[in-house]
Amino acid sequence: MPIGLVENQDLSSFNTLAVNASAKYYWAIKSEADLASALAWYKQHSSDLPLLVLGGGSNLILSESFPGLVLHMQSQGIDLLEEDSESVLIEVAAGENWHDLVCYCTQQGWYGLENLALIPGAAGAAPIQNIGAYGVELCQVLESLHCVEIDGIEVDGPDCDDVEKSSHELNNQQCQFAYRDSIFKNPNEPRRIITSIRLRLKRSASLNIQYPGIQQSLKALGVEPEQARPEDVLQAVCNLRREKLPDPSELPNVGSFFKNPIVSAEHYQALKAEFADLVAYPHGEQYKLAAGWLIDQAGWKGHRDEKVAVHDRQALVLVNFQQGSASDVLALAKKIQDDIWQRYQVALEIEPRHIMANGMLVQN
Ligand SMILES: Cc1cc2nc3c(=O)[nH]c(=O)nc-3n(C[C@H](O)[C@H](O)[C@H](O)COP(=O)(O)OP(=O)(O)OC[C@H]3O[C@@H](n4cnc5c(N)ncnc54)[C@H](O)[C@@H]3O)c2cc1C
Repeated sequence: MPIGLVENQDLSSFNTLAVNASAKYYWAIKSEADLASALAWYKQHSSDLPLLVLGGGSNLILSESFPGLVLHMQSQGIDLLEEDSESVLIEVAAGENWHDLVCYCTQQGWYGLENLALIPGAAGAAPIQNIGAYGVELCQVLESLHCVEIDGIEVDGPDCDDVEKSSHELNNQQCQFAYRDSIFKNPNEPRRIITSIRLRLKRSASLNIQYPGIQQSLKALGVEPEQARPEDVLQAVCNLRREKLPDPSELPNVGSFFKNPIVSAEHYQALKAEFADLVAYPHGEQYKLAAGWLIDQAGWKGHRDEKVAVHDRQALVLVNFQQGSASDVLALAKKIQDDIWQRYQVALEIEPRHIMANGMLVQN
């Protein structure tokens, strides 16, 4: 067996929902050489098996046994590529921890990531769903990324030199970012592994603190919003998130379980007429409804099935407190989806990526 390849790897501590899961084959990717060896082995021995790229496992619902190869991205490195008086361009390896990156950049005086503090996971996964929080999305700072196209690689030895040849750069526009979406979620696109991302950050802060929660959190720190520095915003965001969201290391979860549904203006008006305190935000000509509000109003907050539950402070978060399986979590999600459809004729879409027992990804 090649060095680096592990058979029957337990994945229960590699997914923040803490479902019991294992992978038939597993490879920790710490360098380009690891990736070359892993892909060469995959191409030669098991390319008919599914392949899963894993970061922090904070946006995944894993079925019990994954029948293919898991590539666990653990490469490290933050490089300053360019700087001038206004901005810096940095390159970040896929395995870097996202929150540590946000803190590091803010300490360096490289601004723009503060609102995205405390989002779990790895930097290489951030473009997949264009992570966002409190009015800021990754697409506002991502300049480009490097990725490898799995299916384009030809191999004729134990290492494949072709990884470098198949590696290419996608710029921001080519990533086709949208709300919790990007080209990487499109099933008709080639399968890609993101190896690094490039971020353009500012040297002088332009803070995004419109969200009432951030303003309140700043005030609780004794900082008037007009006087806030990026470091204060970072702290305010961390405090706010710790107050509202359960820590996965204490109560396993994948953050928001459902996307905020986007509905037409007519549908929004009809709902608003019936539910005066409906929480919604304009989204182009449509409206984005607060999924948490819908679920909360429908009475699900704190609802508990045998092993899984709706969090008692945040209705958008499902928690797995007794080693429930993917099926337990999805059964609860289905009950909520059906109920929300009945009440509001709104379809709730699941946000995390669901890997089925055959290793295939459910498209969402
Ligand atoms: C408590 C909590 C709070 C959260 N809050 C937010 C939030 O505010 N905003 C938000 O947007 N998200 C949030 N999330 C979701 C999650 O943190 C993000 O989606 C994060 O980017 C996932 O990173 P990860 O490394 O854990 O990805 P994983 O869960 O490991 O993978 C997610 C998907 O990306 C793919 N993938 C991972 N790495 C790569 C790579 N290098 N190349 C190609 N594909 C890859 C995987 O195959 C999978 O399809 C939250 C989650 C939790 C648990």
